[in-house]
Amino acid sequence: MKGITPEDQGDINLSIERAKYAESLDESTRFWINEDAKYFMHQALSTPVMNVLSKTEGAYIYDLNGKKYLDMHGNGVHNIGFNNAEVAKAMINQIGSSLAFTPRRYTNIPAVQFAKKLVEVTPKGLDRVLFCPGGSEAIETAVMLAKQVTGKWKTVSYWEAYHGNGFQAASVGGQTHFKKGNGPMVPGALHIEFPNYYRNPWGFTDVAQIDAAYIRQLKLLIRNEPDIAAIIAEPISATPVVPSLNYWQQIREICDQEGIFLIFDEVIEGFGRTGKLFACEHYVTPDVLVLGKTMGGGMLPFAGIVTKEEYNTLSASSIGHFTHEKNPLCVAAGLAMLNYIEEHKIVEHVAETGQYLMGQLNQLKEEFDMVGNIAGKGFHLGVELVENNQKDRAFKAAERIMYDCMEMGLAFKLIEGNVITLRPSLIISKAECDFIVDTIRKAIINELAK
Ligand code: PMP
Repeated sequence: MKGITPEDQGDINLSIERAKYAESLDESTRFWINEDAKYFMHQALSTPVMNVLSKTEGAYIYDLNGKKYLDMHGNGVHNIGFNNAEVAKAMINQIGSSLAFTPRRYTNIPAVQFAKKLVEVTPKGLDRVLFCPGGSEAIETAVMLAKQVTGKWKTVSYWEAYHGNGFQAASVGGQTHFKKGNGPMVPGALHIEFPNYYRNPWGFTDVAQIDAAYIRQLKLLIRNEPDIAAIIAEPISATPVVPSLNYWQQIREICDQEGIFLIFDEVIEGFGRTGKLFACEHYVTPDVLVLGKTMGGGMLPFAGIVTKEEYNTLSASSIGHFTHEKNPLCVAAGLAMLNYIEEHKIVEHVAETGQYLMGQLNQLKEEFDMVGNIAGKGFHLGVELVENNQKDRAFKAAERIMYDCMEMGLAFKLIEGNVITLRPSLIISKAECDFIVDTIRKAIINELAK
């Protein structure tokens, strides 16, 4: 079977550079990597693994030798840092109170408190909550809600996007990698291109002109494909591309006119990452906001949707029939996480420090032709590495730079094969931002000297 291609979700574990990195590791680490590979099913984006961790704390991950890496990925769960003491305390207290699970049909006070809190902090008009174990299920639930409320069955989402695993979530996802070999996926899953201001196919530079060209694709699709229940998107793509306000305003208008749900997947972007508590606050309010990852306080699997009161109409069916729907331990972790964000003014910190990091990264662009584009918002940033006239993706160099940075204590994931994805914990300082930029600078200089 063909492996993952460089344009896909992340760096692959089948490459020559990965093999070289694996060889550079010490004997004990290699032993555990091999043991892991002996028992877990192999997958291109996970097993065999890259390294073995002994500790994940704050903004850092630690290998078996105690070497620490500032983690720019964290799978998106580490907004308030790994092993956050306040989350741990809330969870221990919850277990101590002998209420770590409630069977379905019962509720518990922390679950009600967390739901109320989410309604309070999400944009006005989002008043109803449904919890589930993970982001993929939350996407499934959001799409089911849209289909059942509208009575329509098609969806529009974006090429290259990732919205999780499972048939519905992978169907709205825009990458073959997560669908191939399954035969027919969920029918009616249509896709369009996410706006791209750096690499749009027409060579346009004017933002309004670019938006118009992409919106035209959507209008054409809607005209020719009736029965669209929902448009599903991350407000800012994972790459990241930051659409204009005008783009999302136009989509919101189209959704309102056509009776289509706008579903924003903020599994990554929610809870402060973009310098607002929710990324949609930069744009428009969706019909369904999908949350996950950090929602479990960086320790537990937990996700959910927040939607409008008017869609609370499915009381005779069950779209989120999950065992752990109101798990007290998960909601205690979520509540502690939100309190931490508020008490430590994390959103304000990200808005300010993210801008600082962006400024420093932009200097790299001045220094090196290889840095083609810097994009993103808050602590959701991407550095695109290019060659030959600044547009060809520098796949091989990007991979070498990634492993070189790893050696120097900076861990990140590549996306689309050549974009250094920087999504650190939201608690990092300006000095740590300087470390990120200095490390990437050193790795680029090393690469250019080869
Ligand atoms: N949506 C987005 C944007 C994601 O990044 C992910 C996970 N990477 C998911 C949905 C799925 O979440 P989970 O892995 O918790 O099912």
